[in-house]
Amino acid sequence: MNRLADYDLEEIKQIVTAQFGQPAYRAKQLYAHITRFNDYDEMSDLPRAFRDALKVDYDAHALKIEKKFVSVDGTVKYLYRLGDGNVIEGALMTQSYGNTLCVSTQVGCRMGCAFCASGIGGLVRNLTAGEILSQVLCVNRDQGGSVEKRAITNVVLMGSGEPLDNYDEVTKFIRLLSNKDGLNISERNISLSTCGLVDKVYRLADEGYGVTLTFSLHASNDESRREVMPIAKKYSLSELIPSAKYYFEKTGRRVIFEYTMIKGVNMNHFDAKRLSELLKGFPAHVNLIMLNPVKEKNVKGCTKEEADRFMKKLNEMGVSATIRKSKGADVGGACGQLRRSYIADGNKDE
Ligand code: SAH
Repeated sequence: MNRLADYDLEEIKQIVTAQFGQPAYRAKQLYAHITRFNDYDEMSDLPRAFRDALKVDYDAHALKIEKKFVSVDGTVKYLYRLGDGNVIEGALMTQSYGNTLCVSTQVGCRMGCAFCASGIGGLVRNLTAGEILSQVLCVNRDQGGSVEKRAITNVVLMGSGEPLDNYDEVTKFIRLLSNKDGLNISERNISLSTCGLVDKVYRLADEGYGVTLTFSLHASNDESRREVMPIAKKYSLSELIPSAKYYFEKTGRRVIFEYTMIKGVNMNHFDAKRLSELLKGFPAHVNLIMLNPVKEKNVKGCTKEEADRFMKKLNEMGVSATIRKSKGADVGGACGQLRRSYIADGNKDE
């Protein structure tokens, strides 16, 4: 079934006029309803007959909230059900400066990183732009937000999936989300996290996107990176780091590196030294992440003291690095964990 949220205003105009023979001004009305995550019953300024005809071909909603968990730290974890029965997840993190929604870009993932729950079971399918956008529209409404007064100020593409492995839909999503006709969340407030699909990083820069780019690094040399991230077999650090520099030069946006600390694997003195050499000469920041243990995976995190020591060492070597506060751990906070446990509990994808 088609979904209304997959289309931009221009495409909605085409549908409204060419497919349904309605006056063009109805496109703006319909688009406003889509942005508010309204159901057909709520679109009372549109003629009933038009709505009934639309309903036959287009779902008003690309997804619905299946379950919602609130963490002791205020993080809200959402489990959504898509039109085809698949489930995906997301998390809303509240901070003093605003609320950040973490969205999924694929059902499952084919990157197979050693510590990540999203890749267990592989890639099921890509999400469409409208399915990604609907996560934002739906939670904005669920949290009492509107178009004028958004409940979500920042969006991070850090849920299940590898965003650059779904390039066309993800970039359309960015355009839909940042569009002034829609929720109008600026690219400055959107972060995209990638395991490092280097060719797509160049493409993103060349096509003029200005989102904050975050690279999942997780290792200081190719050898150990290949052990935790299969994508490192395709792209070496000597390709990945120049692409990050290129993105910075094109966009002026400081690049962020994510580094999940794994005991006995990536956090000794030599790792710190190599990291400082890798990141020399351009404004980069390292987000150190405490590993969120995944029961199917055989990797161990470190203690807070060990993390602090590693951070200090990096700082002494001139690397800007901070430890990212772990949020929502009690409600399956890390990528893919909630969907994974939901399916493992016998709630099959349909
Ligand atoms: N595919 C993208 C975005 C997904 S995940 C990427 O690789 O960047 C967002 C971040 O969380 C990534 O850095 C990912 O490696 C990390 N992550 C995944 N599972 C984790 C876990 N169990 N503990 C800590 N970090 C994890």
